[in-house]
Amino acid sequence: MPTPEMRFDGRVAVITGAGRGLGRAYALLLAARGARVVVNDLGGAIRGDRPDTSVAQGVVDEIVAAGGQAIANADSVATPEGGRAIIQAALDTWGRVDVLIHNAGNVRYGSIRELSAQDLRAVLDVHLLGAFHVVQPAFGLMCDAGYGRIVLTSSVGGLYGNERCVNYGMSKSAMLGLGNIAALEGEAFGVKCNTIVPGALTRMAEGLDTSQYPPMEPELVAPVVGWLAHESCPVTGETIASMAGRVARMFVAETRGVYRPRWTIEEVAAANEAIHDKGPENPCLLDFGLHGHIDHIGYSFAMARGA
Ligand code: NAD
Repeated sequence: MPTPEMRFDGRVAVITGAGRGLGRAYALLLAARGARVVVNDLGGAIRGDRPDTSVAQGVVDEIVAAGGQAIANADSVATPEGGRAIIQAALDTWGRVDVLIHNAGNVRYGSIRELSAQDLRAVLDVHLLGAFHVVQPAFGLMCDAGYGRIVLTSSVGGLYGNERCVNYGMSKSAMLGLGNIAALEGEAFGVKCNTIVPGALTRMAEGLDTSQYPPMEPELVAPVVGWLAHESCPVTGETIASMAGRVARMFVAETRGVYRPRWTIEEVAAANEAIHDKGPENPCLLDFGLHGHIDHIGYSFAMARGA
């Protein structure tokens, strides 16, 4: 017997940054499965400037043409007022919010030494504070309704680091903190919160030589987000990576550790090896370390190539 289709009939989903790339793929998939979707997108250039309201409307037109239901919203996640307006758009139209996917993103490169205060702020405002600006108003509604699914967006570059992306890395690693706390605070109310770590060829890859990459379209990531957003999703507070067809759980690992009732600097130095020892029952599935960003990509690509 075929597996019954997992649907979103009756559900209202708000997806930020859904005018392009990954967010657009999420919006099209959820709408095709019956969700009513708020397609939020400021429509800006990759740095987050030059807004264009036609971008969100373009995805709405695609959804409607395919027989789905969606509305466009061009408010910015970068301010508390913008975040509230995005959630309010769902309430005004359909009176509820069941799913929130915070996906909006911009990029401004710069090393720690070079980065301007303006470029630091512009990225923190969208990725880090932007997440809170939409989660907060949605979270209260979801807890009151006794149901909610939140998906945040992190990045390999945030979890393992990536040079010249300090503003982005700071923001993306912070999604684990927000996700964990939303999962904890939402547990008693039927509200689940998980984090996606996507990898896909979108305009964020502009300038990279991707000619040797395996297939990495946003549509490969969308079903993973669809599962995290679905009512049957059993997990919360988790971080799931999806790149080039490989789906994996990511988590913070620790070594067994070393106990002493008192420590001196010299004793810490002497115990260094034992502190780092992963022991025979290695708790790390993949110990990528300092260059984890590159290693993660290489591992994912190797699996995609059948190695
Ligand atoms: P994208 O540039 O194609 O899409 C991001 C969208 O967010 C754009 O349409 C943009 O207009 C919108 N946006 C930017 N600022 C906004 C604001 N203030 N308010 C509302 N919308 C705004 O990029 P993408 O690759 O689809 O990225 C989607 C998310 O996934 C981002 O959070 C990104 O950091 C993350 N991510 C992507 C990859 C990847 O491989 N593409 C990897 C890791 C993480």
